[in-house]
Amino acid sequence: MKKKKTEVKAIKCEEAVARFNDFLDDYLKGKSREELVKHISECRDCMEKYEFEQLLKSKVHQLAATDDNAMKEKMEKLMASL
Ligand SMILES: [Zn+2]
Repeated sequence: MKKKKTEVKAIKCEEAVARFNDFLDDYLKGKSREELVKHISECRDCMEKYEFEQLLKSKVHQLAATDDNAMKEKMEKLMASL
């Protein structure tokens, strides 16, 4: 099988993490976005970090509806420490 021409290059964890905010705010476009998505899908560390950032940024309001008490507790502690 032939590889696609537009192959997304691998980026480092630091580069991925540095793009989280832009990605969450939907400012990240094109290649930068593809590189980040690729990295997150392959890197468990960054996936976890990303999910956490995402939670903080856009899902806080959904906490009241969640059944995940452990996560809820974790988030409440975190919010309290901010
Ligand atoms: Zn990573």
